[in-house]
Amino acid sequence: MPDPSTKPDCIFCQIVAGTKPARIVYQDDELTAFWDHYPATPVHILIIPNKHIDSMNQVDPSEAGLLGRMMLKARDIAEEMGVRQKGYRLLINTERGGGQSVFHIHLHLFAGEHLLAVHG
Ligand code: 5GP
Ligand code: ZN
Repeated sequence: MPDPSTKPDCIFCQIVAGTKPARIVYQDDELTAFWDHYPATPVHILIIPNKHIDSMNQVDPSEAGLLGRMMLKARDIAEEMGVRQKGYRLLINTERGGGQSVFHIHLHLFAGEHLLAVHG
């Protein structure tokens, strides 16, 4: 019986399952974090839930804790990468109009250079 929380044609589900290679920096029962394949900044990590959720718009209120743990894991990774004190940016692009291109929710962690303020 296929696991209903994964989508076989989703590249991020494949990374979670280990069937698609990625530079994984953290993985547990709930979350996986790995380097973005096309880094936009010197540190560019994606933090995702292991279960498939298309986007921020499909997050159920009961999953608020999951979102919080994604953010705290990003902070831990920023610490490990030595950028926590200097600073970093966390971002969830949502739907096409919000710049989302991979439809498995992911939190970007950007750091490693001076990031300018962005307001859309
Ligand atoms: P989005 O535009 O949806 O917010 O971000 C998707 C991100 O996934 C992009 O930054 C893109 O570079 C990254 N990406 C796309 N395909 C792959 C892949 O196969 N492996 C990894 N590690 N990153 C990917
Ligand atoms: Zn997926």
